[in-house]
Parts: sequence; structure tokens; C-alpha cells
Amino acid sequence: MDTNNLKRKINIYINQDTIVRGDVIFIKSLSERIKSVRFQKKTYYPYFVDNAYYVFLPTTYNSSINKQKIEIEMGDSLYSYAYTFFVYVKKNHFKKSKVHFSQHTKQLFNKKGIDKERTNLLSLIKSNSTFKKISPPEIIPVLGKYRITSPYGAMRVDENDKPLWHHSGVDFGAETGTPIISPSEGIVLFADSLILQGNCIVIDHGAGIKSVYFHLNKLYVKEGQVVKKKEIIGSVGATGLSTGPHLHFGIYVNGKPINPLNFIKRRFK
Ligand SMILES: [Zn+2]
Repeated sequence: MDTNNLKRKINIYINQDTIVRGDVIFIKSLSERIKSVRFQKKTYYPYFVDNAYYVFLPTTYNSSINKQKIEIEMGDSLYSYAYTFFVYVKKNHFKKSKVHFSQHTKQLFNKKGIDKERTNLLSLIKSNSTFKKISPPEIIPVLGKYRITSPYGAMRVDENDKPLWHHSGVDFGAETGTPIISPSEGIVLFADSLILQGNCIVIDHGAGIKSVYFHLNKLYVKEGQVVKKKEIIGSVGATGLSTGPHLHFGIYVNGKPINPLNFIKRRFK
């Protein structure tokens, strides 16, 4: 390798070196091609947008903690080289929240077609972004009064304290009909009714970032529609498996459910 290569301006941004489970690490390279990034036993590939390479690395409530390695492979077909960075993942506590389902909602779990709907929804969430920009969610999507009724990562337990699952998003309790707005630009991947999720929207914001909205009263967008930041996409409701009117809002990064509120607080520019 000639010395020019060694002196080449390294222009990699990593937005933070200490995170908690549910946070996202953001890598951007302006001058050099990122081939792939290895993190927590998974390989991620970059999105190339506006002459830069972007990789968003998700962590979830289940992620390994303490010192974690990020291996970035750079280069092209002629040469390649790697950088290794470390990030510290702090252990955070996810509180328990009891869920009580009525007989009616319990019956929903036995409905035919639930498994197929879940598989289809997950494959949509895990698919590569087709939106050609990067527009990470920046605002809370409830336009009006709300209170957070269940935070991200909360361990759902049943009446007998038996653990069920971690909450994959945030629940905003609000009056039925409260407008829901898109937290950033994107393309609607899905807008339809599902058994458990009720009226549901999935938006692709580019670079593997997707947002989901469950239990809506009304849907105001259609599949394939491009939405602007703050555009009204639906309204709060209690459709599907829901104990009262609320919005379940989730953000997925490369297929993994991350902490939406922490994600919104950060600036990925
Ligand atoms: Zn929820």
C-alpha cells in the first residue's frame, strides 16, 4: 500500500461511544466506500445516498452489554482494509408491566391467519429500504395530548407474573381520533387492517429505518404513497389487540426494534 493510502483522510463518523440497549449507532463515510460492518454477530451493508455511505447499527432490549466491537470493512474490489472500534453498551433496566386481556382480546390470539400476518409484517419490516433518501424520524407522531402508557422494552407479564414478551415500541395513550403524523419523510409500505395490530401503517424512511403504527382508528394513507414530515397519516384508535385507545409506535432499524424515543432525541445528520 502506498503512503497516500495511509494518509488518506479518514472520514468516518460514529455518533456515540456509550449507549444503552435500544440505542442506535450511526456510521457515515464520505470519502471511502464501506463494504460491510460487523456488529454483535451480524453483518450490515451500507446504503449509498447523496455520495456517502451510511450504516445504522441497532441494539435492542436483548442485546449483549459491556464492551462491543464494531468492525468496519472498507475499500473496493482492488483493495480492502478494516477499522475496529469499540462501543460500550450500558445495562439498563426495563420495567415490568402487567397486561390484562379480556376474553374478547384473548380470542383474537386464536384467530386463523395470525401467524401468516405476523410473518408477512416481519418480512416487510426486515426488507431492504426502497426509499432512496435517508429521513430518520425526528418527532413524536401524536398531534395532541398523550401520555406514555407503556415504554419501550417493558417486560409484559400476565396476571400470574409470567413473562410474555418485551414491548417492541412505545404506547401513547390518547383520545380516539387524535391525529397521527409522520415523524419524517418516507414511503408507505403498508396501510391495512390486521387481526392483532388493528389498522396498521408501515413507513420506510430509507437506510433500513422503518416506523410502524398500530391500533389506528382511521388510515389516511395508501401503500406506495410518499409522505412528508408532519403529514397526517391516520388517527388514534383501539383496533386489534388493544385495551383502550392508544398508538403503538415502533421504529425498526435493519429489522430490529429499537427505542423510538431515544432515536428521535438524537440527531443523525
Ligand atoms: Zn404497544
